[in-house]
Amino acid sequence: VFITFEGPDGAGKTTQLQRLSRHLQQLGTEHICTREPGGTPTAERIRTLIFDPEVQLVPDAELLLFAAARAQHVQECIAPALEQGRWVLCDRFTLSTLVYQGYGRGLSHERIYQLSAMATGGLQPHLQLVVDVDALHGQQRIHQRHGDVNNRFDTLSCEFHQRVVEGFRAAASSEANCFVVDGRNSEDEVHHSIINALQQRGLL
Ligand code: C5P
Ligand code: MG
Repeated sequence: VFITFEGPDGAGKTTQLQRLSRHLQQLGTEHICTREPGGTPTAERIRTLIFDPEVQLVPDAELLLFAAARAQHVQECIAPALEQGRWVLCDRFTLSTLVYQGYGRGLSHERIYQLSAMATGGLQPHLQLVVDVDALHGQQRIHQRHGDVNNRFDTLSCEFHQRVVEGFRAAASSEANCFVVDGRNSEDEVHHSIINALQQRGLL
């Protein structure tokens, strides 16, 4: 089973991924936790490049680097784990690319779909958990987390974050296998909604 956690910055994706991981551990369900961009040594090096504040990337180059990291991640990590019967919990995947590079940066959605299809080889999540939060809430949590700017994405405008929030809402209603959960609720409430969503789909 392949589950992705999607949503704006500060929504609580990583926290919820860890909660689900603990739940699976209690059930004795074999799984791995991974993230994008990254998840393998090579893809983590691409991540470092993407987030380096001293690296200038035009939006097309940024998109291609995300795709390169994803191809590496899918072929070296995600697909093999799924073949071995493990669950894969992934912090961000193709929906984030559609939203940040498409809705956020204004790149062609068509091209993003084509590149994502190439990078994933057609592999799609069984469920995309979209943790929804408004831009203000999300940004407040980010500032509480690290206090100041630590990568070139932290300086993006309020308008950009607003496009991202709305992009996730639009994408969640048009893309397959999405479940939206309100990230402003408590950590426990969000976790229980996620467990319910998995049970309703017969995954748990
Ligand atoms: O997942 P995480 O919060 O670590 O992502 C780090 C940063 O990467 C975020 O600030 C997000 O704005 C940015 N990002 C992006 N495009 C993606 C995925 C993440 O701009 N496709
Ligand atoms: Mg996170």
